[in-house]
Amino acid sequence: MHARHFIIPAAFAVTVSLAAAPPQTKSSVKPAAAPAATNPKLAQYKKDVGAEIDAMREFTQQMNDQVFSFGELGFQEIETSKYLTGILEKNGFTVERGIAGIPTAWMASWGSGKPVIALGSDIDCIPQASQKPGVAYHDPIIEGAPGHGEGHNSGMPLNITAALAVKKIMERDHLSGTIRLWPGVAEELLGSKAYYVRAGAFKDVDVALFAHVGANMNVSWGDSMSNGLVSVQYDFKGESAHSAGAPWRGRSALDAVELMDVGWNFRREHLRIQQRSHYVIPNGGDQPNVVPPNASVWYYFRETDYPHIKELWETGDTMAKAASMMAGVDLLPTKVLGSAWPQHFNKVVAETTWANIQKVGLPQWSDEDQQLAKALQKELKNPRAEGLRTKLSDGLQGPVRENTGGGSDDIGDISWNVPTVTLRYPSNIPGLPGHNWANAISMATPIAHKGVIAGAKVQAMTLLDLVSRPELVEQAWKYFKDVQTKETKYEALIRPQDTPAIWLNKATMDKYRPEMKKYYYDPSRFKNYLEQLNIKYPTVRTTAP
Ligand SMILES: [Zn+2]
Repeated sequence: MHARHFIIPAAFAVTVSLAAAPPQTKSSVKPAAAPAATNPKLAQYKKDVGAEIDAMREFTQQMNDQVFSFGELGFQEIETSKYLTGILEKNGFTVERGIAGIPTAWMASWGSGKPVIALGSDIDCIPQASQKPGVAYHDPIIEGAPGHGEGHNSGMPLNITAALAVKKIMERDHLSGTIRLWPGVAEELLGSKAYYVRAGAFKDVDVALFAHVGANMNVSWGDSMSNGLVSVQYDFKGESAHSAGAPWRGRSALDAVELMDVGWNFRREHLRIQQRSHYVIPNGGDQPNVVPPNASVWYYFRETDYPHIKELWETGDTMAKAASMMAGVDLLPTKVLGSAWPQHFNKVVAETTWANIQKVGLPQWSDEDQQLAKALQKELKNPRAEGLRTKLSDGLQGPVRENTGGGSDDIGDISWNVPTVTLRYPSNIPGLPGHNWANAISMATPIAHKGVIAGAKVQAMTLLDLVSRPELVEQAWKYFKDVQTKETKYEALIRPQDTPAIWLNKATMDKYRPEMKKYYYDPSRFKNYLEQLNIKYPTVRTTAP
């Protein structure tokens, strides 16, 4: 409740500063016939959109909590996609479902003409990350079930809020432009975006505005501290036999998996420091008394650029072949389960976004929000339990001087096809491990709700900039063509024979969904998800663990 009192004045502060000195209105004195003139009403639009988004607070919170409660893994975002597209259709968007051969993917569209701006964010969650929101220690809603331990429940609610608020203004003032909305399906598997590109989903898009949860609000341009990757499954085929009665008649596919892993771990010492590689064994056989006739190992090979990713991948393929020879089994044709280009963001769009971030600023956190954050940081033995961020980062982040590697996001593929940025918005707590139950704790609490509202305002204002200042789109493409892609040309990592790995996670969701259904958020009965789960906010330990 406190939150409302805090945030409304902040929004007014935003609108006041906008009305005060928007430099872009000066150039608007040009004659109306000038083709690339800034719309003179831009400052007013931004003011209106801030108020509009404040009025949508409850709607936004409901979307955020609803998606949190669905907790669906990559390629199985069935309820999430049904729910989000339903909202968009009710609000006048046309939705094309199943794009790029992915059942849970879609492209929603509203408006007409140029520019075409595509707003995206991921929607999948993390295995075994089920967690009660607002509770500052590990306390799953359902033990072993998936959950939003990456905060992907918040990004599309943010984009939808921004899009609907901007749509109102565009309708009112008859502005030209097309708004697209699309979900990052199976981002944790790097599973969809290269296929979107291959299917031509971004062909006529002028700018892609992506949003990803963070612990502060920022944006960057140029090469980021991250890796691209290829995700490959190696399947081996041997011969079963009685493990004790006639082991010499068997050929173990699991042997090949283990030999490949051992080989890889020896080679690891001699790989570039930027690489990250890791694997799991999705199939290691059935039971010990049967020589495993088939087995599989699944690798992520991460590197900083396309040639190095290909090189790492080739080394993996060689290891797999060698391991199959040692074990006397067959290596089946490899499966690419996902891929991602390294991310490179657009300078012009990042600068535009950063100006809006500074206008909107960070949310006002309540004592309860800070209490939850500090208690969780303490729980995780974080030496500096500093709570939530109260200051924006020092400035717009430019290209990294030396990319020493890190995570990946297949937004990279889109960023090499269309001018793109990723807006990070402050819906999570700083200092968490990532891909973990801890990262789910804030995601259906006032921390997430406030962060989403702040992010939606930035996204909406940037959208209005792009619609009202055609020269920005031109400049963004100039950077894209003359700087970003001058020497580096996009080449998909997925091979012609690869198709989206839509079977992944199905068995896990089939196992947990019936139980999870009991906990789906019901906004007709509860104001928010915390209330439905009967959680006191915040719930922190009163005694040491
Ligand atoms: Zn993510």
